Amino acid sequence: MSEQIYHSDLLENDVIISSKGRETDIPASNTKKYYIESYGCQMNVSDSEIVAAVLNQSGFQGTDNEKEADLIFLNTCSIRDKAEQTVRNRLTQLNHLKKIKKGLVVGVLGCMAERLKSKLIDEEKLVDLVAGPDTYRDLPRMISDVDGGQKAVNVLLSREETYADIAPVRYSSNGVTGYISIMRGCDNMCAFCVVPFTRGRERSRPADTIVHEAKEMVAQGYKEVTLLGQNVDSYRWTENEKLKGKNLVDAKYEEGVINFSQLLEMVAKVSPSLRVRFSTSHPKDMSDDVLEVMGRYANICNYIHLPVQSGSSSVLDRMNRTYSREWYLNRIAAIRKHMPNCAISSDIIAGFCGETEAEHQETLSLMDEVVYDLNYMFFYSERPGTLAAKKFKDDIPEDVKKRRLEEIIAKQNQHALQRHKEQIGTKQIVLLEYTARRSDQQLVGRTDGNKKVVITKDRWNIGDYVEVEIADCTQVTLFGNVIRKIDL
Ligand code: SF4
Repeated sequence: MSEQIYHSDLLENDVIISSKGRETDIPASNTKKYYIESYGCQMNVSDSEIVAAVLNQSGFQGTDNEKEADLIFLNTCSIRDKAEQTVRNRLTQLNHLKKIKKGLVVGVLGCMAERLKSKLIDEEKLVDLVAGPDTYRDLPRMISDVDGGQKAVNVLLSREETYADIAPVRYSSNGVTGYISIMRGCDNMCAFCVVPFTRGRERSRPADTIVHEAKEMVAQGYKEVTLLGQNVDSYRWTENEKLKGKNLVDAKYEEGVINFSQLLEMVAKVSPSLRVRFSTSHPKDMSDDVLEVMGRYANICNYIHLPVQSGSSSVLDRMNRTYSREWYLNRIAAIRKHMPNCAISSDIIAGFCGETEAEHQETLSLMDEVVYDLNYMFFYSERPGTLAAKKFKDDIPEDVKKRRLEEIIAKQNQHALQRHKEQIGTKQIVLLEYTARRSDQQLVGRTDGNKKVVITKDRWNIGDYVEVEIADCTQVTLFGNVIRKIDL
C-alpha cells in the first residue's frame, strides 16, 4: 500500500481516527463499551474495522466518546520513532483517565504491540492488554483474562490469517469511500522497514471474499473502494489445492492463479459506478498487465502510489529495494504510456545511511524527471531490529538530514503547484466525500487522480459524482465549479 508508514509504502494518512462501532444485539451479560484510536497508515484503519467487528460479534458496543468507554484500544504504528512516541504520550494521558475510572482497560494493538510485546506491559504499567496484528480474533478471550485480574499478551504472527470471513465494521467511514484489505504482511526486506517484523509473512486473501466485500459495499451505497496491501502487485491466490503452499510468484504456477491485475479487473466489474483505487505498488513488481487493466476500465482511478524512496541506485541498493533508478524510471514511462494523465505519488527518505551529497542530488533530479503529484517525505530514523540497524551506521548528521529533507519538500511543493495549475480550466469528475472544515457551505471531494477539490455545496450532496470545471488552486487544493451531477 500503503500504505502510507515510513515504509510508508502505505503511509497515506498520518492521522488518528477514533470511532464508534456499529450497534449490535448486546447480550445482557455484556454491556461493555469500547473505543478505538487508529494511528498510522490505511492498513491500521482497516484493521481497526476488523477489531470492531470481532468485538461487536462478542456483544461489546462501540462508542466515540472515550470517557464512556470501558475498553480503550490504541491501534499503533511503529514505522517511525515519532509515531511510537505519539502513542507513548497518549498512554500517559490515558493514565489520568484510568485513575478516575476504576476498571478501565487499556490495550495496545498493531505494530507496536508486536515490536515491543510484553515490554509495553512492564514499562507502561497502565497497559492491560497487548495484541499483535494477527491476533484480533483472540481479543474477547484476552479481555476476559484481564477481567479476571491478569494482563493479556498475544503477538503471535500467522502464515494464514487474512480475516477473510470477517465483515469489517466501517465505523469511521463517511459511507462513501472505504478500504478492503486484500493481503497482509510483506516478504520484502527493505533495510529501513519494520513491517516484515511487525506484520509477518505475506499472505493473500481469497479473491472471492474480496469481490463479495466489494459487492456488499455497493449494496450499502459506497461509491469508492481502495484495495489495500503492503505490496499489492505480489497478490496471488489460487483455489487449486495442489498449488497451495507453493511460491505462487513463480511463473510456472501462473495457471489457475489469480494475480493482482486479474483481481483488479474482478473488482472493477463489480459495478461501473464503484470507483476502484489501490495501494501500495512496488516498483519491482508493478506489471504492465496492471497498467493495461487500469487503462481499460473507466472506474479504476488514474492514480498510482509508487514509492521510490531514493533517486540513487547505490542508495536503493543499500536500502535493499531490489530495483535501480533506471528500472524505476522505466516503470514511470510504462505508466505514462498506458495512461498519459495518470497521477503519480511516492515516498522519499532523506539521509539514509551513507547517503552522499551526490546521491541526494540524484533524488532531486529524479523528482524533476517524474514531477510527482504528491509525495510523502521523511528523514531517515533508524528502527531497531531492521536490516539497516544491523548492517549500517546511521551516520548522516541530523542537521544534514533535515536540510536535505527541506530541499526535497521545497521541490515537491513546486511540482505539486505545477501539477495543480495544469488542472485549471479542465473538467474533472469528482466524488464528493465530506463537508469542508472551514465552511459548511462547501463540500470536498477527490478527482480520479486523487486531487482534493473544494466546491460550493449548493444542491450537491456527499456521495454525488459531479463534473467540475477547475477554476483555481493552491499546492494542496483545487477549487472548482460544478457543471452537473453525473453517473460514473
Ligand atoms: S519491507 Fe519494503 S515493501 Fe515491505 S512494507 Fe516495508 S517498505 Fe513496503
